[in-house]
Amino acid sequence: MRKGILEELNKSSVTVTDIANQSWCEYKVFLSCTQKEGQTKAMRIGEAIHMNLQKEVYKELTVEPVNYPDVFYKNAYENILTMKSVVENGKGRELKIEGDIDGFTIRGKIDELLVENGETVIVENKTTNRENGTHMDSLREMHSVQAMVYRMLFKDILEKRYTFKRYYDTNGVSRMKLSPQFIQGLKEIGIKDDMINIGAICLSMFEGYQQLPKISDTLMIRYLDRGSREVIEEVRIKYDAQWLKKILDKDFLFWNKKKSPEPVTKEDSWKCKSCYFLKINKCQFGASYFK
Ligand code: SF4
Repeated sequence: MRKGILEELNKSSVTVTDIANQSWCEYKVFLSCTQKEGQTKAMRIGEAIHMNLQKEVYKELTVEPVNYPDVFYKNAYENILTMKSVVENGKGRELKIEGDIDGFTIRGKIDELLVENGETVIVENKTTNRENGTHMDSLREMHSVQAMVYRMLFKDILEKRYTFKRYYDTNGVSRMKLSPQFIQGLKEIGIKDDMINIGAICLSMFEGYQQLPKISDTLMIRYLDRGSREVIEEVRIKYDAQWLKKILDKDFLFWNKKKSPEPVTKEDSWKCKSCYFLKINKCQFGASYFK
């Protein structure tokens, strides 16, 4: 795995959210990696809406994990259940995904997979205010980057550019050991002995990706009203590899330490007004716009 700035930021991977957020303010991504961002009311509401959506279709492994390998197993197991739900019911939520961009490990969680016209559509659910129309273009760019990166990582798995072996080695699966309590719990719910093994469950997850209906070039961004929780709009976009490549080439200059993180321009300084880091006096750039 390429290290770049990750070591300095004490991170093991770049998240898809980091990449999407670079389209909003790269300097904010840098600050969020070095100091914890306080949760706003809007963030708390957004999280609660996501949790409710997840509960509608998500099936959890009921055995409680004790150590990190148990959690890793649980994630792979739940991914298998999510993919099964997509195949059987045409819908699944919260699929964790991993891949590689420019030698960096990338991790993320796809909000929803929906089968439409025989194809699997990646859906991102975003909460906003109904009256928040003014800055929609900036939000859409960020959300489009996020959905397109998921689509790219997904395709990399399906076309075996990101393989099971790579996943196995990157995560050090051979060194992982399930806790005795977790193993006992898996036995009690009837998991077969040959599947009580992290390598076996991860392999089964990789086989599951290949069972999904063809991945669609259309991506959906669904906007939900933060107050009423109703769907405001479902925006469909086409995957655009060239557009995404241009953005990623620029974004990864930062992760490769080839440039400093960029703050927003004066023109976009409206973004600073709601920024946590301006409120706590941690951003000299934002502060300079409001002198
Ligand atoms: S205050 Fe503005 S420039 Fe600074 S991190 Fe926040 S959004 Fe970016």
